[in-house]
Amino acid sequence: MCAYCGRRFTAAAMTLDHVAPRRGRKAYDRRDNLVLACPACNAEKRDLAPIAFLLARRTRAVNLLRYGAHLSPMLIDLARSLVPTEADDAAAVASELDQLDDLDDESPYLD
Ligand SMILES: [Zn+2]
Repeated sequence: MCAYCGRRFTAAAMTLDHVAPRRGRKAYDRRDNLVLACPACNAEKRDLAPIAFLLARRTRAVNLLRYGAHLSPMLIDLARSLVPTEADDAAAVASELDQLDDLDDESPYLD
């Protein structure tokens, strides 16, 4: 299971991804910095900071939380902070309702 897109692949296709880029430091090979990633996600992530990669598609943060329970607290906090919240949803609904109000002003059924 890819920790970013959540899709299932054969074991042979999977790659090991350093959630925080390795930058030649041995500590980054720790298990709490590694997840399984599919080739497409790994390639797309390669040149991006972890936060930029997760922000580009928020479902990646959701999947990383689901499949990355073993990750370091710092990485889990990062993923959690990027998961769309109920507050985001409420704001989206409120803005859609505002737009409906605007439409009502132009309703042909008004006097
Ligand atoms: Zn993937």
